[in-house]
Amino acid sequence: MATTVTLPDGTVLPALGVGTWNMGDSTTRKEEEIASLRYAIDHGVQVVDTAEMYGNGRSEILVGEAIAPMRKRVFLVSKVLPTNATAKAVAQSCRRSLKHMGTDWLDLYLLHWRGHVPLAETVEAFRTLQHEGLIRHWGVSNFDTDDMQDLQRCSGVGECAVNQVLYSLEHRGVEYDLLAADQQRQVVTMAYSPIGQGGALLANPALGQVAARHATSQGKATPAQVALAWVLRQPNMLAIPKAGTVGHMRLNLAAGELALTEQDLAELDAAFAPPVRKEALAMI
Ligand code: NDP
Repeated sequence: MATTVTLPDGTVLPALGVGTWNMGDSTTRKEEEIASLRYAIDHGVQVVDTAEMYGNGRSEILVGEAIAPMRKRVFLVSKVLPTNATAKAVAQSCRRSLKHMGTDWLDLYLLHWRGHVPLAETVEAFRTLQHEGLIRHWGVSNFDTDDMQDLQRCSGVGECAVNQVLYSLEHRGVEYDLLAADQQRQVVTMAYSPIGQGGALLANPALGQVAARHATSQGKATPAQVALAWVLRQPNMLAIPKAGTVGHMRLNLAAGELALTEQDLAELDAAFAPPVRKEALAMI
């Protein structure tokens, strides 16, 4: 399993990051969510993913509070909504996100999904933010192969650092052509919802069967760890599972210890077939 990914400019990051969608929504869960994020960072996680959309800023505010004592150890990611993708609105959104998180810079700023604003305008706005030192890298999210081709027409190789897409055992469509196309352009793929949002995926018997053959430093392997290890088997793939508790976070970090065998992969292929033709990019 690859343990790091490399951005086009040579920046190396641990392949396991964390997501924060729905964090900050509940005052009763807040302390545990902050503890979970700090536990992750204290145990080597660098990438923390949020978005202006999440809880209308509540996730960013919680992330800001969580990382305040350890900002320099974090590779902070936020996203601008497509409705805010004009030159003027990108500049405003970025500054609002920075304010929410009490920081002077974002390490990575993504266009959340493609909207109606011409890509060239958004790319130019990202370049301006880079020039101003407000963002270090920029990228996109939910971009399919044809969107990436359009993006190439208004940006150079190495400019777009990341494409964040839905990727899990349940959603393998990107294996058909998008993963290879992104890799060829040195774009790191960031897998969102890698453990199926903690839903039906984890109850699938195939995951239970594979998990039963493995153990980690945290004890018997779990279906969520198998799902995560399976996503991270891909080269230059970063995964950002969300864990609102230290218990879940600890298990997710230990998923890096799992080495899936040929037999495991064959059983998972039998339960979750790889794509045989182009499928439109799935989104949540
Ligand atoms: P995930 O696949 O990360 O699943 C999160 C759910 O799984 C939570 O309910 C969590 O519960 C539970 N969970 C976490 N760890 C374990 C474990 N070890 N065992 C059992 N259950 C577990 O779904 P998300 O949709 O949150 O995706 C991850 C991140 O990706 C988001 O948080 C967000 O940052 C990003 N994202 C980006 C999108 C985009 O359009 N660009 C769209 C969707 C997500 P608990 O919280 O109680 O620990």
